[in-house]
Amino acid sequence: MAELIDPFNRKIEYLRVSVTDKCNYRCGYCMPPQGAHPEGRHTEYLDYDEIARIVAAFADLGVKKVRLTGGEPLVRKGLPELVALLRQHKGLETLALSTNAHYLDRYAQPLAEAGLDRVNVSLDSLRPERFTAITRGGDLHRVLRGIEAAQQAGLNPVKINMVVMKGTNDDEIEAMVDFAQTQGVEVRFIETMPIGSAGISVMDQHYPADKILARVQAHVGDKLIPLVTRSHDGPARNYRIAGSQTRIGVISAVSQHFCETCNRVRLTARGVLALCLGQEESVNLRDPLRGGISDDALKELIVEAIKKKPERHHFNENVHNIEFRQMVSLGG
Ligand code: SAM
Ligand code: SF4
Repeated sequence: MAELIDPFNRKIEYLRVSVTDKCNYRCGYCMPPQGAHPEGRHTEYLDYDEIARIVAAFADLGVKKVRLTGGEPLVRKGLPELVALLRQHKGLETLALSTNAHYLDRYAQPLAEAGLDRVNVSLDSLRPERFTAITRGGDLHRVLRGIEAAQQAGLNPVKINMVVMKGTNDDEIEAMVDFAQTQGVEVRFIETMPIGSAGISVMDQHYPADKILARVQAHVGDKLIPLVTRSHDGPARNYRIAGSQTRIGVISAVSQHFCETCNRVRLTARGVLALCLGQEESVNLRDPLRGGISDDALKELIVEAIKKKPERHHFNENVHNIEFRQMVSLGG
């Protein structure tokens, strides 16, 4: 079978699909207060059939995992319909969703029935008022209900993503480890990246992964067991807590780059294939699709696009001059 291999011999097996750049939350590191692209016309966005056609082409080219993201995917109407369309492709092994979980209590069951495998939920604080401040209006109780609904619907393991910010929520690292154990979820601590609405200014809040790990270690002691990093783990270092099912990950996209094992590319809601989160290289797939391109020619276009994938991002060296990039367009 055809495969996608980039010039640095990395096999591309993971596609992140942003289904919208809009969101009902306004996390300071991600979204400007007024929201993203309010002027965006409906027709600029790929419809579900177009997304399904592009995903099918990727799956034929060896992509095994697709994650729906955004913006907030659940603000787009009828997401379970898209999941059902994608699930028809037998080559896809994993179909996952990243969400802020605000609407998850309503959608967890229909999504699971449509064929979704797993969810990642953003959760930066377990304190209701702080959560509302970080998300500029979010409702912690709804998010916790959403997490439980996902577990009941069988979308396990639910993975929690916490962006650790110095002086904002770094005092909750231990509480989040405890939450993982009592709630039966996985937690991944993420370094703040100089990407998104606040751009470089978020780096004032940067809290390095090594320090996060040291805090987790001090909290659980010798019960923290490192797990073997697999090629598809990307920039995550994973651990398990002995005597429990709990897994903890630490994602150090900035302080240590793991670009040599990068296996992913991103499709924006407007149909642009972005080849690296920290670089500009991209290829428009929407216009050729709307111009009537055949399935074979679409696959050829994707194979050619992958040849432009950069070797690595430059967050840590160029952190002071990195171009502003919209996380909501690229889907994290
Ligand atoms: N709305 C969904 C959510 O929040 O999970 C999906 C999209 S969101 C852009 C995907 C992930 O990117 C979230 O876990 C979020 O915390 C993370 N993210 C956004 N901006 C970030 C930044 N500047 N640094 C680190 N992580 C960021
Ligand atoms: Fe919305 Fe997710 Fe960005 Fe927060 S991180 S503003 S929930 S898209």
